[in-house]
Amino acid sequence: MNITDTPNTETGYIRDVLAKSLDLQTLTVSEVSSLLWVEDDELWSEIFQAASDVKERVYGKRIVLFAPLYLSNECMNDCLYCGFRRGNKDAKRKTLSMDEAVEEAALLARRGYRRLLLVAGEHPKRAGIDYFEKVIDAVYKGSDIRILHLNAAPMSVDDFRRLKASGVGVYQCFQETYHLPSYRRLHRAGAKADYAWRLGVMDRAIEAGFEDVGMGVLLGLYDWRWDVAALIAHCRSLMNKYGFGPHTLSVPRLQPAQGSMADHSRYRVSDDDLKKIVAVYRLALPYVGVVVSTREPADLRDELFTLGASQVSAGSKTSPWGYVKDGDTEQFEIGDSRSLEEVIGKIAGLGLMPSLCTACYREGRSGERFKHLAEEEAIKNFCHENAVLSLKEYVEDSASGEVKEQLTELLDEEIAKSRNGVAQKCKLIEQGKRDLHI
Ligand code: SAM
Ligand code: SF4
Repeated sequence: MNITDTPNTETGYIRDVLAKSLDLQTLTVSEVSSLLWVEDDELWSEIFQAASDVKERVYGKRIVLFAPLYLSNECMNDCLYCGFRRGNKDAKRKTLSMDEAVEEAALLARRGYRRLLLVAGEHPKRAGIDYFEKVIDAVYKGSDIRILHLNAAPMSVDDFRRLKASGVGVYQCFQETYHLPSYRRLHRAGAKADYAWRLGVMDRAIEAGFEDVGMGVLLGLYDWRWDVAALIAHCRSLMNKYGFGPHTLSVPRLQPAQGSMADHSRYRVSDDDLKKIVAVYRLALPYVGVVVSTREPADLRDELFTLGASQVSAGSKTSPWGYVKDGDTEQFEIGDSRSLEEVIGKIAGLGLMPSLCTACYREGRSGERFKHLAEEEAIKNFCHENAVLSLKEYVEDSASGEVKEQLTELLDEEIAKSRNGVAQKCKLIEQGKRDLHI
């Protein structure tokens, strides 16, 4: 089926599609399009329930937390929607020095984060591969951060090899929109104007050895149903070619940004649409993580936690040096300004398991190996117990007040029913041992 054909949204057919997904099979583009075009609210309730069930089966109750660390807002491109675009003459520009990057990372580590997503504008001279290598090395050596992911401009295979060797976990890059005329209208200058260079980015990253890549479209640039179906088509083509697809799908939704020249209303994605998108991603690719950022308001994020999200950022700043001192130009406005501690408390209060775990990267459980383990539902078991250990560390080092009490109670319950020496490891954590996992 072509993604412009009229999809089948009959109840019986949709239930068959949901059954396939509940059997943890990947959906075809035509099945995804059918889900996207459902109009009946009752049927959407069934879709949401199925998404939540699939999430629970593959990932259990855990939600992994991270923060973005903006390294640079200098950029040669002119994406009309972004505060960092080169045409935004009012932007205050900054690229973090090594010391500054380490200071921000160390501050975040003290708050309890163990995984960060590095983010940068496209500026090969100031924030190219030479800079990334140095800054990644400095942060690993100078802070308690255990895994760094990167969202940065597409690179050549050679540069991706260097990036992989520097110890980056996931390379993330969004196509923004697959709709060529819209892409061209929104990206008029710089390297990003080359649609094909961006479209081939994941092939180059995978060729260079990245098994974990993060993909997405910027929701609100074009018709969301079309772009979501196109993204799934792209993921499936990578799966056919390499035997594995993306590690994560993100759901960035267009936010107001200082200096934006884009039309933010024409393809607006409502809160209800966003819930549908999260559910459809979860159902389409059951083993792929779904990432929700602090672009979204707190109430909506709380709903998305139960609907299929498996990784969420918290306590984020979107400007370089933003954690140490607010001031320089933000990329876009934040919707959820709660601290990491508040979000952890909320997740635990919803009956879910907050996780700051990085064990899979430390144990080499990534890419294909991660997928096989997930298929055997082993990831769910590892992850749950590792989440407990990571939370124990968090309680010892960073939590305070009511959230600390709430988490201590949760940990007591979890330790009582745990296996694999979790209780013993928790004792060791109390005695000062760190980075314990299964
Ligand atoms: N400069 C690199 C690039 O464009 O791929 C990577 C970093 S860029 C800061 C990360 C992502 O932010 C972009 O891919 C885009 O999807 C998203 N973004 C840009 N402007 C945004 C806005 N106004 N609202 C929400 N997300 C935005
Ligand atoms: Fe630069 Fe990325 Fe913003 Fe585009 S989205 S202007 S490439 S930082």
